[in-house]
Order: sequence, then C-alpha cells, then structure tokens
Amino acid sequence: MLLVLIEHDRGVLGEPALEALTFGRSLAAKMNAACHGLMIGADESAAQQAAAQVGAHGATQLYTVQHEVLSDFGPEAWGESLAQVITALQPAAVLACGSERGNEVMAQAAARLDLPFAANCIDINPSDDLAGEGDAAGGGEGAGGSWAVTRIQWGGSLLEDADLVTVAPDAAALFSCGLHTVVSAPLDSLDPSLGPPEIQPVSVQLDAELSRTVVRERVVLESGVTLPTAPVVVGGGRGVGSADGFAALEELAELLGGRVGCSRAVTNNGWRPHSDQVGQTGTRIAPDLYIAAGISGAVQHWVGAMASKHILAVNTDPEANMVTKADWAVIGDLHEVIPAITAEIRRRKG
Ligand SMILES: Cc1cc2nc3c(=O)[nH]c(=O)nc-3n(C[C@H](O)[C@H](O)[C@H](O)COP(=O)(O)OP(=O)(O)OC[C@H]3O[C@@H](n4cnc5c(N)ncnc54)[C@H](O)[C@@H]3O)c2cc1C
Repeated sequence: MLLVLIEHDRGVLGEPALEALTFGRSLAAKMNAACHGLMIGADESAAQQAAAQVGAHGATQLYTVQHEVLSDFGPEAWGESLAQVITALQPAAVLACGSERGNEVMAQAAARLDLPFAANCIDINPSDDLAGEGDAAGGGEGAGGSWAVTRIQWGGSLLEDADLVTVAPDAAALFSCGLHTVVSAPLDSLDPSLGPPEIQPVSVQLDAELSRTVVRERVVLESGVTLPTAPVVVGGGRGVGSADGFAALEELAELLGGRVGCSRAVTNNGWRPHSDQVGQTGTRIAPDLYIAAGISGAVQHWVGAMASKHILAVNTDPEANMVTKADWAVIGDLHEVIPAITAEIRRRKG
C-alpha cells in the first residue's frame, strides 16, 4: 500500500494535499498497490467532509489520527503520529507533498524510524521486485528494494537521479513530490458504486512534550489574492528603478486580477517588502502568467518563478536569462512597455 499524507489546515485540504494525491495515485499504479490517505489531527466531521475530495483524487481508504496533542499543526506531533501509523500499517511507501509542512513532517517521521526519505521528487519508479506484486508490494512480506527517483536539488537549479534503497523487508520508503510539479486533478471517472473512501481511525500514543512546536496563532497579513496563489504575477526587478516605479506594475496587476512580485534586488533596495519577493529566499509562485519586468532571471529568482505556466519577459537585454527562458519577450524599456500593455488591455476591454 502507498500511504499519502494529506496536508490540511484545521480540516481544510489545501493544494499540497491534492497534488500529493494526484502524484500518489500514479505512483500506486506503478507499484500495483492501493493508494490510501492519512489525515493527522482531523476529527470525525473534518474527515467526513474531506472524504469525497480524497476519494475523487484517488485514495480508496482514509485513515485518521486524533489526539489532544494534535489540536493544531505541530511538526513533532505530526511526525511522531506518522511514524506510529507507519509502524502499525506497514505501507511499502509513504508520500507527502514537498511543501514546507510536508517535508518537515516526513523528515520527522524518517528520523524517528530511521527510514530513508527522498524529498522533492518529480518522478518515482519502484524496481521490478517491488512493482507487480499486488498489494504485497504494499507492505509486509516481500517489501524492501530499490526505488529510482528524480528529484529537485539545490533549490531547483538541478535535477538529481538517485536510487533509494530500503534494506529491511518491512521498511517503508518515504518520499515527497516537489511542490507544484504536478497539477492536481480529480480522477477522470470514478466508479459511483465505490462511494467515498472508508474512514478508519488509527490510535497513537503521544507525549505532551511533542506539542513544544505547535501553531498557536494565525495572523492574517493580507486578504484577497496572495502571491503564491495569484493567477497573474507582475514582477519587477532592479530595472524598475525605484519604489515609485512599481505604480505602473500595480496598475497592470490590478487590471489582470493579479499581484505584484519582485526580485531580491528590489527588496534589498527597500522598494518593496520581503513578502513580495519571489525566489529561493522568497515566495515560490505558480501563476498562469508571470510578467517579469526588469528582472535578469538569476537562478535564485528563477527557482521561485519556474513553476509559472507562462512567462512574459520585459527587458532591455535580449540575452538576459529571463528572456531566454520566457515563452514570450518584449525587448524594450519596461517604463514604456508596461503602460502600453495596460493601455491596450483597457482599450480592448472598452
Ligand atoms: C543565497 C542567495 C539567495 C537569493 N535569493 C533570491 C531570491 O529569493 N529572489 C531573487 O530575486 N534573488 C535572490 N538572490 C539574488 C539574485 O542572485 C540576483 O542578484 C537578483 O535576483 C537580481 O535581481 P534583478 O534581476 O532584479 O536585478 P539584476 O540582475 O540587476 O537585473 C536587472 C535586469 O533589469 C533589466 N533592465 C534594466 N533596466 C531596464 C528597463 N528600463 N526596462 C527593462 N529591463 C531593464 C536589465 O537588463 C537586467 O536584466 C539571492 C542571492 C543569493 C546569493
């Protein structure tokens, strides 16, 4: 069995959960094994509410773990819970989404059980002895073997091919799939006779000490479209020239229902807050369209922008990295090009 860790925030499934299930169901098919989900810290009503979505994305069984220590997200308590569930259920493999939370929980579980963990994979293939064994590949006898993985390394600047080897016969292999490396989607067709997945609680023993790190408070920093979820991001770099220069980018972003982002050169200059920064040390974005104006496309910026579905670069330098990587480019002064795009959209919208 493949066990998919379903990330949720107080019962609400986010995009990482659906990406993990989408990735997980194809991995389970390669393993010829069942795809089951796990919600840690979800009470019965939250699990019931999530079950239809979990089932639609490919899991045929939903395990839940409840404990007073799991009243809100905490990496240690989630990690120990996952470790105990792995011990109890003996899946052949466990998959999470490679979000910050997903990777942290998997690392906690891997360290606690001394199991191998490959993070941020874009492809996972079980060796022949693991695949094709029905649900025997899913745990217990006969499990153990090697997995060929391709994973994102160095903040996204290279892809590594590696083998993950489990030595003990009952040892699970732990993986996360790179955040935004798959587009989440429900199954094309679902057998209506199957209904939502059966919910099965798993009991765990947790020490109160595990709640040392737990979410205690949520501060809403912004409302409306956020940078990681915006369908359009209009990014500005050093080429914008000043804080005031961002007014034209703000106008275009608003017109397109998007958000303004920026490079680190901009935040270093104090033109925009760090919360607007895209990149390795900023936010990773995945919009339908990223308009990168006056941004050279340094690797540390690119790793935050590379999941964009389409990129339009506006730059005076035709050799700039961002220009060579973009789907479309306008070679010119952004102070002329951005207002011209805005004016043309306004004209077409009437
Ligand atoms: C550890 C580390 C982490 C980092 N993390 C990040 C990160 O998270 N995000 C990030 O962005 N950077 C990050 N950086 C910095 C990164 O290496 C680059 O220095 C930075 O991205 C450059 O920003 P820029 O493209 O705006 O500036 P530049 O590289 O100076 O590029 C400016 C671009 O604007 C163009 N231009 C100039 N004038 C105009 C004009 N009028 N019209 C059109 N185009 C014009 C130029 O041709 C050029 O291509 C990091 C660096 C390190 C070492």
